[in-house]
Amino acid sequence: MTVTTDLATIGNVIGGEERSAASGETFEKMSPATGEAISVVARSTPEDVHAAVSAAGDAQPAWAARTVTERGQILRAVAQAMEQERDALAATVSAETGKSPRDARGETDGAIELGYFIAGEGRRFYGKTMPSATPNRQAMTFRQPLGVAGLIIAANTPIANVAWKVFPALLCGNAAVLKASEDAPQTALAFARLAHDAGLPPGILNVLQGYGAEAGQPLVEDPRVAVVSFTGSTAVGRMIARIAGERLAKVCLELGGKNPLVVCDDADLDKAAEAAVLSAFSNAGQRCAAGSRLIVFDAVYDEFRADLVERTADQKVGPGDEHDFGPVINERQLENMLAAVERARAAGATVVTGGERLDRPGFYLAPTIVENVDAGDEISRTELFGPITTLHKVSSFTEALEAANASPYGLTAAIWTRSIDRAQEFARGVVAGGVQVNGPTYGFEPHVPFGGERDSGTGWREPGTEALDVYSDWKTVYVTHDPEAV
Ligand code: NAD
Repeated sequence: MTVTTDLATIGNVIGGEERSAASGETFEKMSPATGEAISVVARSTPEDVHAAVSAAGDAQPAWAARTVTERGQILRAVAQAMEQERDALAATVSAETGKSPRDARGETDGAIELGYFIAGEGRRFYGKTMPSATPNRQAMTFRQPLGVAGLIIAANTPIANVAWKVFPALLCGNAAVLKASEDAPQTALAFARLAHDAGLPPGILNVLQGYGAEAGQPLVEDPRVAVVSFTGSTAVGRMIARIAGERLAKVCLELGGKNPLVVCDDADLDKAAEAAVLSAFSNAGQRCAAGSRLIVFDAVYDEFRADLVERTADQKVGPGDEHDFGPVINERQLENMLAAVERARAAGATVVTGGERLDRPGFYLAPTIVENVDAGDEISRTELFGPITTLHKVSSFTEALEAANASPYGLTAAIWTRSIDRAQEFARGVVAGGVQVNGPTYGFEPHVPFGGERDSGTGWREPGTEALDVYSDWKTVYVTHDPEAV
């Protein structure tokens, strides 16, 4: 037996074939858990993007010509293949993100459920029928595919992010070019291999590896790409909206969050603290829906804070199932977080716990709570995408709602209260695409629409059946018949 130290090579998938980048260039992908290289990845350029969009454009008409029921059957086979390979897929997710195998399996299960849910829409795909004011005339609506869908994703929940976009895009009759995250290249490749083995025709799902500026932006610029669906940071989302807006392409942006979790004086404090810790730190805080601002009534502030600090001290940080959460995705992100906490400290904030890198290989940040900050401070307004949360004291419901809304974002929000009046007022008044009463700030299921307001997105919702609206356009058809001709 030969022992090899070669790293896995992760290529593009174009027209059903795995290929290196046209330039032959590669980059190394590091394990967040160890800091060591785990794969060598194709570094795509506009030439690869052009080839992938061409392959998608060539394959799309035949795919769209199939019935949606048949497309749904093929996508169901893809979901079945994912289920059969669930542990291997989850192992890839775990290796690329550093999250525990348990968390990676949970994420993979969600992606499989989404696959089945969207495949089932192939038996519905409902439009509307409407009466007309003219006799013997009816109106009805049909969903139409758009053509080539450009999909660009983040790495935080990589298999879920792939599934969230690919299943609805393909069900609607589009062909897709998926720009994988440079931090999770193998997950996207593994999905594409499974999909092709399960019967997806070549060219319907193409995968591009590489960096955003080199492989993502040319996809957004390509006039043959009819819809761009992006999950990532608000800064990149703005750039994408500008470029795609110039050529009037449809654009769905699922962006960042700085999500408030409000704890009222009538809350179940024990459960609220448990939800706060999960919201702030699970998945190493790398959730768009993470609870990164904890807003607490002064009457229960000290009690809640003590419980929160104790629970945070109990958090086990490391790579395996015995840990509560793992590393952040890369060195650069970790450095950004440390610098942001230092700036907050310099500006007068108190770092109650954490704020430092763990003394072990890999990209680990201790769970961090920052106090004595105003709603307008940088650390209260900027998404850090790590295990960092801020604590704010308020004296009334009105102040809590104001504090919750004092953010440029509007993705999710949670309130802990036993009062139906407070719960309802909060749900009505908070600026957010999703609200939980007596729950965490995250945890929206595959059949439920999810998306944000303000700087969190453009108002589209993924997943749920609402995702179909991103990837299809409505066509309205009138039919007039002549009763005399019967
Ligand atoms: P990012 O914006 O840096 O990168 C996301 C993707 O965009 C990557 O694939 C990257 O290569 C690509 N990209 C970068 N520059 C580009 C450009 N100029 N043109 C085209 N593509 C480009 O984000 P990230 O740090 O990888 O991910 C974290 C962000 O994603 C956070 O803001 C988080 O809140 C957000 N997110 C949002 C949701 C949601 O559903 N709202 C879900 C997950 C993550």
